[in-house]
Amino acid sequence: MNIKKFGGEFKLIEKISRTAKNKNVIVGIGDDAAVLKFGNKNLFVTSDMMCEGDHFSRAYYSPKQIGIKAMVSNLSDIAAMGGLPLYAIVSIALNDDTTVEQVEQIYNGLYKVADRFNVDIIGGDTTHGAVLIISITLIGQAKGKRIITRAGAQPGDVIQVSGPLGGSEAGRQLFKRKIKGFERVKKLHTEPSCRLDISDQIATYATAMADISDGLASDLRNICKSSGVGAIVNREAIPIADNVKRAAHLLGTLPSDLALYGGEDYQLIYTVANKFSEKVPGVTIGEIISGDKIYLENKGERKELTRFGFDHFL
Ligand code: ADP
Ligand code: MG
Repeated sequence: MNIKKFGGEFKLIEKISRTAKNKNVIVGIGDDAAVLKFGNKNLFVTSDMMCEGDHFSRAYYSPKQIGIKAMVSNLSDIAAMGGLPLYAIVSIALNDDTTVEQVEQIYNGLYKVADRFNVDIIGGDTTHGAVLIISITLIGQAKGKRIITRAGAQPGDVIQVSGPLGGSEAGRQLFKRKIKGFERVKKLHTEPSCRLDISDQIATYATAMADISDGLASDLRNICKSSGVGAIVNREAIPIADNVKRAAHLLGTLPSDLALYGGEDYQLIYTVANKFSEKVPGVTIGEIISGDKIYLENKGERKELTRFGFDHFL
């Protein structure tokens, strides 16, 4: 069956998933990173791939930016577990028009981000392919026994995000439509940052956490599904930078739609008990409720959120 007809990426992953047999697998498929008990430590392992044409285009990404984004997307999944990243394994498929200089530039990008967070590239694989593909496996470590999964959200918890959203999708659409200017917005797409700068502080209080890689609609839904809860999100509370709002206006789209359905912002979304919400950096966008539905509230009107964020097959 065609994957789109089947229901997309997430349905497919569900179909191929099995429960791990080894008891040292504390968290297997279904979170931002797997958690493995290793001696008296907990390790995090995650993998993310970027394919030319789907994730990036060399028409508007420099090779260095391809490297930056590939490393950031992986570090972001370690941040989402409240972990400390340690080692990266980098595999690349290179097509005929890739030059040595371009590969060096990709690695300049990878090392720039890796160095900032004291991550070593310890291995990988190099091969030929029809398009440029870069796949990274990141290994990290938990702080003590602390693991923040997507599964701990409780009714009454507030929902927060770590910073402004929608910039990456705005940038992507600006590039696609060849709109001039908005250089800073475009950079949010080609050179994103991850939130390892504050993830440890957030993880002290978070009951559940994920990174926003597929759009608020999907990443909040993942938390709700894993935690067995519902949510109410206030559309007007979703933080959007002013220049992104201006870009949205020009693109003819609602700024909050860019945040909900776009993705690749690599901010964190997390839930925290109401009494701790002031202690955590970030912006409150809603509240966890019982049930399994997610509602969007806008100027007092409440509607069920039925759309998903980004899916490669839908
Ligand atoms: P994220 O966006 O946080 O990187 P994904 O949505 O890519 O997470 O993946 C969701 C879960 O499915 C993760 O636990 C991931 O490891 C797992 N997963 C994705 N693709 C596969 C696959 N082909 N085989 C096994 N597990 C997979
Ligand atoms: Mg993730």
